[in-house]
Amino acid sequence: MTNRPKLRIGLIGSGFMGKTHVFGFATAQRVFDLPFEIVLHTIADRTDDIAAQASRSLGFARSSGDWRTLISDPEIDLIDITAPNAFHKEMALAAIAAGKHVYCEKPLAQLAGDAWEMADAAKRAGVRTQVGFNYLCNPMLRLARDMIRIGELGEIRSYRGIHAEDYMADPESPFTFRHDPAGGGALADLGSHALATAEYLLGPISSVLGDSVTVIDSRPDGAGGKRDVEVDDLSRMFVRFDNGASGSIEASWIATGRKMQHDFEVYGTTGALIFTQERFNELHFYSAADQAGRRGFRRIEAGPDHDPYGLFCVAPGHQLGFNDLKAIEIANFVKAISGEGPEPMNFRAGARIQGLVDDVRRSSGRGAWIDVSA
Ligand code: NAD
Repeated sequence: MTNRPKLRIGLIGSGFMGKTHVFGFATAQRVFDLPFEIVLHTIADRTDDIAAQASRSLGFARSSGDWRTLISDPEIDLIDITAPNAFHKEMALAAIAAGKHVYCEKPLAQLAGDAWEMADAAKRAGVRTQVGFNYLCNPMLRLARDMIRIGELGEIRSYRGIHAEDYMADPESPFTFRHDPAGGGALADLGSHALATAEYLLGPISSVLGDSVTVIDSRPDGAGGKRDVEVDDLSRMFVRFDNGASGSIEASWIATGRKMQHDFEVYGTTGALIFTQERFNELHFYSAADQAGRRGFRRIEAGPDHDPYGLFCVAPGHQLGFNDLKAIEIANFVKAISGEGPEPMNFRAGARIQGLVDDVRRSSGRGAWIDVSA
């Protein structure tokens, strides 16, 4: 495509997600027929040096040690926020006020009220938004949702979801922004993904019973001392869905040995699905309609039949990777900006997930079921 308008990106943060977003922009540009030419304009980080180094390695034209430089730059069209959670609201509101589209990592904000404020501001300003729930961009999740919707599992009875990793299992791993009492914890960090997947597959959750636990109550503060931890290391929740199904969801960052267990099981009257993120190019389907003596979970491998896999690779079973999910997420967002497609996980959707996170937290504090608030 030639003569496309430019979409100039201002990226804030050059850590794990910053790099993943850059891979996503680069891949999306080459794999999808996008309505814009993506330009990596300026990258910001905590200091001039970090930002300058990141601009060299990641391919940005400019860099800054002050994220506000990006907001005030009239050339930048889209602000991409991959900074720690506590900054999301301030950065996003500033970007929206400057009339820029905003792509922000999850969790969208510290509390649902903040997230709704951000969603309302974006709506008033008429800018497009997106939150980084990349696991939802897996074609196998869309297949699972389609199979559930068209009734291949019959009536859905129950759901089991989990997002477990082990990056905080060691008590000596230091206090980070993920332990920030305002908006941190395994529930916000990982439970937000698990809740988003549950609702993506089965529709709205109507009530929750949460149990959040702090297992490691202090961590090294990086200055030779210890800092108290108030947030959860582990949260479990029972959930009821609007469609009548019930389920359980777990979020843990102390699951020793688990690297990426973003998994679910869905049980219906005539079929079931099992999925594990550690093998995310596969979906396992059991059909009670199969002949007796031949029943069992069949493994469906991702391939060109599962859009947009075929744009990445013509051969089935060769597999998409984690960074490809970001490329799909970015392509969806860029199309939404041009008006070619919907905003699948905009700030309103992010605020909805943040509301669920807050509800689970409140439920755990009260020790009682609560109705979902929004
Ligand atoms: P990280 O620590 O690796 O990176 C954060 C970056 O932000 C660093 O480069 C840091 O120097 C920079 N930063 C800190 N303060 C800043 C400031 N004031 N101005 C500009 N830059 C600043 O963290 P991460 O793992 O990349 O997480 C960042 C965000 O991405 C978090 O909100 C996290 O929840 C989210 N995340 C999402 C996923 C996902 O799968 N969607 C995965 C990991 C992290």
